[in-house]
Amino acid sequence: MSLRCLIVDDSPTLRRILTRMLGALGLETEEAEHGQAALEACRRRMPEVILLDWNMPEMDGLTFLKALRREPEGNRPVVIFCTTMDDIAHIEQALEAGADEYVIKPFDQELIRLKLQQTGVL
Ligand SMILES: [Mg+2]
Repeated sequence: MSLRCLIVDDSPTLRRILTRMLGALGLETEEAEHGQAALEACRRRMPEVILLDWNMPEMDGLTFLKALRREPEGNRPVVIFCTTMDDIAHIEQALEAGADEYVIKPFDQELIRLKLQQTGVL
């Protein structure tokens, strides 16, 4: 059975790129355009992995992550932040909120693969 990854980003282009990258790595994917949609997707079916943007309308990535970790089974998914926020303060905030890894945009398939390996997904 393949692993399911929820891709959370308000950019349709980014979601398309990530869907292609993860598909090439053998993961099943689902997309959400902001944190609120992601939370609803997780309540329907908790994914094994979440790639998470920071800046999004409705609910940002950090707010989503805090809400996710309070959900039943919400500690299960590996969460990798993928964001342009590249300063230590943001990275620390993300890790404190329960992020497993942090990728700074722009990224390529190799970096995503490496992060999935480092977090034990692959
Ligand atoms: Mg964004």
